[in-house]
Amino acid sequence: MSSRKLICIVCPLGCRLTVEIDVSAESGYKIYGNKCPRGHAYALKEMTAPTRMLPTTVKISGSHLSRLPVKTDAPIPKTLIFEAMTLINEVAVTAPIKIGDIVIENILGTGSNIVATRTMHAK
Ligand code: SF4
Repeated sequence: MSSRKLICIVCPLGCRLTVEIDVSAESGYKIYGNKCPRGHAYALKEMTAPTRMLPTTVKISGSHLSRLPVKTDAPIPKTLIFEAMTLINEVAVTAPIKIGDIVIENILGTGSNIVATRTMHAK
């Protein structure tokens, strides 16, 4: 039977999880190694619809730096990361920007916004 090893990233304990396909299980998977139910939910999500937070930068003008750090305010599907990066790379903002300002709203219809993670004053 094929199995996949994962490390749970939900809390700092980092439990080592093993996931096996099991057609007799309701979810279709058997999951071992989790110390709590959140690890089970994490492994299931990783197998069926993995998501990621996306930290990156966008161009900024009128400030002392040329890049503004940004991130998604909620995880987005892993399959959309490259498409999201293409959109993000086309964006340029102008200082001043406050931490938490929305740079791209509802990116790719995911419900997640790209937000500034740093305040950048105008020079
Ligand atoms: S399974 Fe539970 S205890 Fe283990 S890392 Fe995940 S959240 Fe933490």
